[in-house]
Amino acid sequence: MPDRRSPIQDFLEFLHAKYAEFREGEVATYIPELAATNPECFGICVATADGFVYEVGDSRQRFTIQSISKPFVYGLALDERGPEHMLTKVGVEPSGDAFNAISLHKTSGCPLNPMINAGAIATTGQIGASQPEPCFKRILEMFSRYTGHAMHVDEAVYESESLTGHRNRAIGHLLRNFDVLEGDPTAAVDTYFRQCAISVNCVDLALMGATLANQGVNPLTGTRAIKDTHVRSVLSVMASCGMYDFSGSWIYNVGMPAKSGVAGGVVAVLTGQLGIGVYSPRLDAQGNSARAIQVCRELSQAWQLHQFNPPFCAHTSRRMRCTGAERHSSRVRHPMERACLGEHGGQIHLVEIQGNLAFATAEPIIRDVVGCTGRRRGVILDFHHVTGINHVAAQLFAELADTLSHQGTAVFFTSTQQLPLLRQEVASHLADASAVEGLFRFRSTDAALEWCEDDLLRELMPTGPLKVDDLRVFEIAAGLADEELGVFSGLIVRRSYGPGDYVIRRGDEATSLFLVTMGVVGVWLGDHENGNRVASFSVGTMVGEMAFLDGARRSANVVAEGAVECALFELQDFNRLLETHPQLHTKILRNIGVSLATKLRKVNEDMRILIAERE
Ligand code: GLN
Repeated sequence: MPDRRSPIQDFLEFLHAKYAEFREGEVATYIPELAATNPECFGICVATADGFVYEVGDSRQRFTIQSISKPFVYGLALDERGPEHMLTKVGVEPSGDAFNAISLHKTSGCPLNPMINAGAIATTGQIGASQPEPCFKRILEMFSRYTGHAMHVDEAVYESESLTGHRNRAIGHLLRNFDVLEGDPTAAVDTYFRQCAISVNCVDLALMGATLANQGVNPLTGTRAIKDTHVRSVLSVMASCGMYDFSGSWIYNVGMPAKSGVAGGVVAVLTGQLGIGVYSPRLDAQGNSARAIQVCRELSQAWQLHQFNPPFCAHTSRRMRCTGAERHSSRVRHPMERACLGEHGGQIHLVEIQGNLAFATAEPIIRDVVGCTGRRRGVILDFHHVTGINHVAAQLFAELADTLSHQGTAVFFTSTQQLPLLRQEVASHLADASAVEGLFRFRSTDAALEWCEDDLLRELMPTGPLKVDDLRVFEIAAGLADEELGVFSGLIVRRSYGPGDYVIRRGDEATSLFLVTMGVVGVWLGDHENGNRVASFSVGTMVGEMAFLDGARRSANVVAEGAVECALFELQDFNRLLETHPQLHTKILRNIGVSLATKLRKVNEDMRILIAERE
């Protein structure tokens, strides 16, 4: 075994050493073959819901699955026959009786639950036990999906139980009497004996548990072992009846759905987190492995695994919240526009959501958005850090978007590529396809924010600088005397570009600085078509001054978005000013410095919001 020095492995080894000394209980002997088991065998395995396996002791020792087969075969019956049918045959009430009790409902004759022998035989009977071969093949295949490898029957144990299992045969006939079983009851009982004699080890059990913890998908193979909607039904009967007449104390103290078998195995499941497999053949009076009970109880306490002690709180689903006054898009804007956004950007709301979204984690986000006061022009919900979403959460977000749009708020769901369910759910909820289109219009939050800013500025600055002729508008000309402005203007060359034209090409030598006098230019890493648009510049801003200052080659492509006009200032003209108009040269240099400082400050501000305000 590889050396895995981890505190988790250490704790399992500690537990194993501690309970190796614990020798209470007796090995089951009523199935003669089981009596030959070495009572000292002791293995523990924990498999995480993402498939990592920790194991200690005799974790690879094989033993028969026995009653641990029951919940899994019940899952197969639910998949094949459907829950409605199964509920007419087998109940879901704890019997409070021993595993082999003949607990049948007083009037219907149905077994009280699928975890006692009567319920398990009735369950096996539902998957076509009248044709034993194909039915058992399906059962074996089902177990292979859970464990990830082919499964086999321990023929000696099967023979042994088959020769002595008269009580189970009697139960079979009683079930036939009440028409819970149809056809020959001996076939159902025989298949049941076979399923109980399937050979497993602790790792198999832990992976079977981890598969249930992982919504029915084996985390190592990616194979679905059971329909996701039936996982909770299986876990429910394990929680209420899995440990027979010890089930109440078990769920109270250990808090994980579990199932035991008379060979000494126990599987326990913590939804979303892990599966546990323990093997130790000495059983207590209820027929549960005595050591496994101790180990699971102590594991649950040490790692706080009780299912009613959930590890997350709902408010952690909000990663960050801010307004358009605090965070700006990557569009570089004229100071006037920046000031306007600083004043009115509060009408744009941005929420970054994280984690897994279900009712309890979606609700605080919805409450937040609904509860925010003042005018709301735009709401952007960023799903980049959302790892999963269920139907309920997706529907709640669809309804929220619907209500907000009817109130005149532009709503955008961004970074949702990893959540196809969200779009499906929204599409099925909103009749209007264009509304769905609008909601998912922007992949990135930055693009949605830019749109919201433009929208806000269009309303608040309708006469804003769509086209500027006066160079005084630009930061580079701040503080220039009229005469100096005249000299500066005289050096300027005007140029026009059509949509998609390259203003600057990556790698080019930097010979000029660009003042955007009309339109918008986008900054692209990589191609205009395939690359990433990392920023954009509006009218009244300056582009390309960095390379202009340090002489480095252009680091990105700059492309016209629509019709664009620029005023170009050549590097050689700037250098010449040093001799002809040194004061003007200094002023321009200082203005470029100030402009760079402003850009840097914006980056710092974005970082502050990203890091410091992350909740
Ligand atoms: N095959 C065993 C029986 O029917 C299973 C019982 C159990 O594991 N508790 O008796």
